[in-house]
Amino acid sequence: MPEPQAETQHFNKNWQQQLAEAFNNIEDLCHYLHLSPNDLPVSITAVEQFPLRVPLSFAACIEKGNPHDPLLRQVLPISDELLDYPGFSNDPVGDLASAAQTGVLHKYQGRVLFINTGSCAINCRYCFRRNFPYIDLQLSKQNEDDAIQYIQNDASISEVILSGGDPLLLSDSRLARLIQQLDSIKHLKRIRIHSRLPIVLPARITNEFISTLTQSAKQIVIVTHCNHANEISDRVIASCKSLKTAGITLFNQAVLLKDVNDNAEALCELSEQLFNHGIIPYYLHLLDKAAGTGHFEVSETEALALIRQVQAALPGYMVPKLVKEQAGARSKQNVL
Ligand SMILES: *Cc1c(COP(=O)(O)O)cnc(C)c1O
Ligand code: SF4
Repeated sequence: MPEPQAETQHFNKNWQQQLAEAFNNIEDLCHYLHLSPNDLPVSITAVEQFPLRVPLSFAACIEKGNPHDPLLRQVLPISDELLDYPGFSNDPVGDLASAAQTGVLHKYQGRVLFINTGSCAINCRYCFRRNFPYIDLQLSKQNEDDAIQYIQNDASISEVILSGGDPLLLSDSRLARLIQQLDSIKHLKRIRIHSRLPIVLPARITNEFISTLTQSAKQIVIVTHCNHANEISDRVIASCKSLKTAGITLFNQAVLLKDVNDNAEALCELSEQLFNHGIIPYYLHLLDKAAGTGHFEVSETEALALIRQVQAALPGYMVPKLVKEQAGARSKQNVL
């Protein structure tokens, strides 16, 4: 079916305009998807806790009229978010929230997370960030300078990971300036960017952004975040192709989510599609236990059984590592 004209017009706009036009309420999103909010377990309280935000480029990948669509489930605020689950707290990875104030999080050897924006282009209901909706936090110039100085002063740091929020919400000029500053730090080998934007707002991958990356003296790695093969639209494929053509290494991390991708078929299809388009499956994360996300949990036992099925079906290089975050640990923990 050809795309409606209004959609074509939307996708001809630049990424900032597309972002400004993202869905921000249940009614509009449901109307677009040919669903009635009255037939869905939607919750206004859940929206008040963590706003709805869905760019059209992601919504367009949701099957119309399907209340159980695996992409819809990632973004629709529902009453299950109000339930208490044992072990789920407001602060499962609290250090990230504090790092958002200072800009750096140095937990693992040789790598630091550099956090300079708290916002995202999409609000994923399963995210720990839902409890810290520091929506438009941007690191002050002073804090950013201090963070760069910290990296400069520690020669054991070989990789800086731009994280967030979503670092690709920074403007091209701001990213260019940041990458130039990092470029001048001799002991740095790699700049890694963790972003969901190549998947949910592929228009973000502008020529200017790509030329900033190719001008850098450091090796550039981009880690995308895609949970389901249906998220990989033609626009996503085109953006990833331009990154690949520019020599950027692409990895993906996914989160294992109940009723989104918790079956071997969906996980295999995700790996196949990622790999087809030049992205190596890197991590499959167990859910961080943030309050409001318990209904997404897949048990470790189940997760392990699933990854074994994927392992039996795919070449080893298409099998992501099943990992979990553990407070105080010096790396992500393999689930074995
Ligand atoms: C996940 C993470 C990293 C990156 O870990 P890799 O295993 O290298 O991908 C670095 N620092 C922190 C604090 C992290 O949570
Ligand atoms: S894009 Fe990432 S950080 Fe942002 S809401 Fe989604 S999962 Fe959380």
